[in-house]
Amino acid sequence: MKNNIRLRGILTICTLLLMFFSLPASAQNKNSFESSKNWNPNKVYFPQYSSEARENLTFPKVLGYEVLACDFHTHTVFSDGLVWPDLRVSEAWLGGLDAMALTDHIEYRPHKGFLNSDHNTSYEIAKPIADQVGFMLIKGCEITRKQSTLGHFNALFINDANPIAVDDPKQSIVEAHKQNAFIIWNHPGWAVDTTYIKEFQEDLFKNGLIQGIEVYNNSEFYPRVLAWAIDKKLAIIAASDVHGNVESGVLKSNGVLRPMTLVLTKEHSLSGIREALDAGRTLALFQNRLAAKQDIAKGFVEASLSVKRVFSSEKSKFYTITNLSSVPFMMFFNNSLHELPALCTITFSVPLDSSKINVNFENIFIYENRTLAHDLQLD
Ligand code: ZN
Repeated sequence: MKNNIRLRGILTICTLLLMFFSLPASAQNKNSFESSKNWNPNKVYFPQYSSEARENLTFPKVLGYEVLACDFHTHTVFSDGLVWPDLRVSEAWLGGLDAMALTDHIEYRPHKGFLNSDHNTSYEIAKPIADQVGFMLIKGCEITRKQSTLGHFNALFINDANPIAVDDPKQSIVEAHKQNAFIIWNHPGWAVDTTYIKEFQEDLFKNGLIQGIEVYNNSEFYPRVLAWAIDKKLAIIAASDVHGNVESGVLKSNGVLRPMTLVLTKEHSLSGIREALDAGRTLALFQNRLAAKQDIAKGFVEASLSVKRVFSSEKSKFYTITNLSSVPFMMFFNNSLHELPALCTITFSVPLDSSKINVNFENIFIYENRTLAHDLQLD
């Protein structure tokens, strides 16, 4: 009896050893950190891992285009920002952006006494960091003139920011244009009571020197500017204009993504982004709201929402709507407001003879004070 038990014990040990050696190498290495050979009684690091995780944003293809999340307006210590260029890049990458422009002010550099280098420096520092994570960095600068009469303008896709630093405001913009820059009129409603187009900007429009406009900047939405963007066929932009850090400021909180521009691209590249900006294929995303041209807004909704019939009774049909995107929807239909959070599903029912629902998307602006009305077809 005793021998029998011993034999059974030996057999069990052999079986366990056999199981261990037949395991794939990766499984054998899957020791907890504390029991691994890396255990150091002198010092244990917390946390034990060395990578930070990116929050991935999800967007289905819209009208056949890939959707890229971009911030075209940010600052570093090389103008009046408070962070080093590296941090701007890692913050954007971790927050799910695909591309960003560093747009340090040409004319306003309060840290110049400590950081007396040229206007391309923030880009040159950030570019290798961006390359290491496959993040697309756009070379840019902000032309910063008197807000009440001239305004601020971002020049994107420039070659060299230094020649743009000239006294004459129009010349500065013309120089950026010569470099084939994409020029955005920044925050037209900032620091003014009434948002209107002044003589200087009228002249720039006449000369084709403005291609995009911020309808949202940092924490301000300018509904009137959305009407200008539609009427003048400009790219509709939302940007953070971040100076401090995104996380601890007002820019990102409780399920609200930082302000960004969603760009509908033919390819995942800088030239893809540029082509889409020139063609005006953008949506401004801010505070869980969108602003876009009507056809693009409709395309975004159609791509993002999947409506499925799940049940029918004698009188009613029951459906689910699934949101396939990282943007939430506020939908008014069937006499009530339905909140459909990012990547979630809600249910609703309609009388048996209904073939569609008339939805008003309360969080999608398509003109100054107009939101998107769009029918969803039911089977
Ligand atoms: Zn700015």
